[in-house]
Amino acid sequence: MEIFKPIDLNMESQTTDIENIEKVKCLIIGSGPAGYTAAIYASRANLHPVLYTGLQMGGQLTTTTEVDNYPGYPDGITGPAMMEDFKKQAERFGADIRFGIATSVDFSGKPLKVTIDEKRIIIAEAVIIATGATAKYLGIEAETKYTGMGVSACATCDGFFYRGKDVAVVGGGDTAAEEATYLAGLCRKVYLIVRRDVLRASKAMQQRVMNTHNIEILWEHQPVDLFGENGVEGVMLVKKKGTPQEEIVKIMIDGFFLAIGHTPNSDVFKKYLETDQVGYIKTIPGTTRTNVEGVFAAGDVQDPHYRQAVTAAGSGCMAAIDAERYLSELK
Ligand code: NDP
Repeated sequence: MEIFKPIDLNMESQTTDIENIEKVKCLIIGSGPAGYTAAIYASRANLHPVLYTGLQMGGQLTTTTEVDNYPGYPDGITGPAMMEDFKKQAERFGADIRFGIATSVDFSGKPLKVTIDEKRIIIAEAVIIATGATAKYLGIEAETKYTGMGVSACATCDGFFYRGKDVAVVGGGDTAAEEATYLAGLCRKVYLIVRRDVLRASKAMQQRVMNTHNIEILWEHQPVDLFGENGVEGVMLVKKKGTPQEEIVKIMIDGFFLAIGHTPNSDVFKKYLETDQVGYIKTIPGTTRTNVEGVFAAGDVQDPHYRQAVTAAGSGCMAAIDAERYLSELK
C-alpha cells in the first residue's frame, strides 16, 4: 500500500486525508525511559513534542519488579511506578502523550512522515526513535504451541499464575537471574536453565540466585521441546550438547519462562536507517543522530551494550538536545 502519496494540503477534495494528517515539530516514538526523558527535555525546550507510546506503555520496565539501581530512588521503586513518574514529569511540561504505534515511515525526504496505527500521518520536523527492544524466543515450535498456556517471556506479568507450582527460567543473564529470584518468591521450585557452565549475570545477581534455596541451576542444559496435554507439563532438555556425555533430560514444570535477551524494535525504520547486523540503529558516535538528518535514536533500540534504564534516559536527553539544536540550525 502506498501510504505517502503526495498530498496538496490546499485541496478541499482531500479533506478525509487532511483530517488524518498532523504537523508536529518533534515526534517521539516510544515510552520507556528514553522516550519519556526525551519528552521532558523537548517540552522544556518548547518543541511541543507529541509522543506515541507503542503497545507497551512505559516500555520494558513495566514488566520488571524492583528497580534498585536507578539514581534518585534510595529505597528502590517498582518498574511500573517509576515509569508512571517519568510520564507525569513529561506531562507536567506539556508533552502530548498518546497511545499508538508507528506502523510505517517515509524518511525519503523532508518533512519526515510517520504513520500511526496505519491511518494517521504525522508530519514531523524532527523524529526521536525510542522504541526499545523485545524479548527473544528460542525458536522451538512448542513455544508457539503453548503461548498463553505455560510459556511466557515476562515473569512479573505471568508469575502470579504459577504460585506454589514448579517453573523453569531459560537464560544466564541479569534478566534470567532477576526473573528466577522473583519467581522463587511465588513458586515452589524454579529451575534456571543455563546453556553454559557460567552465568553472564552480574556478581550481585548471581549471589542472589545462589542464596535462594528453591532455585536449582541446570548447567549446560538447552531446551528442545515442551510437552503437556492442556498446557505445559514439562520440558525436554539436552544436557552437555555435543559432548560424549550428551543426554536428554526431562523435567516436570507448569511454567516455562524465556529470559534470553532482546531484539531491537527497529524493523519499521530499516528501509531508511542504518542498523547493525542484529538490528540496533546506528548512531553517530557521541550523538543520537542517525544517517537520516532530523531522525534521532535513543535507548535500547540503538544500544547493544548497556541497556540500562539510566543509560536509556541519558540518551533520551541527548536526543532531545540534538533535535533542538538541529531544529534551531534549520531556522
Ligand atoms: P543478556 O544478553 O545479558 O543475556 C542473555 C542470556 O541468555 C545469556 O546468558 C545467554 O547465554 C542466554 N541465551 C541467549 N540465547 C540463548 C539460547 N538460544 N538458548 C539458551 N540461552 C540463551 O540479556 P539480559 O536480558 O539478561 O540482559 C540484557 C541487559 O540488561 C544486560 O546488560 C543486563 O545487565 C541488563 N539488565 C540489568 C538488570 C538490572 O541491573 N537490574 C536486570 C535485567 C537486565 P550466554 O551467556 O551463553 O550467551
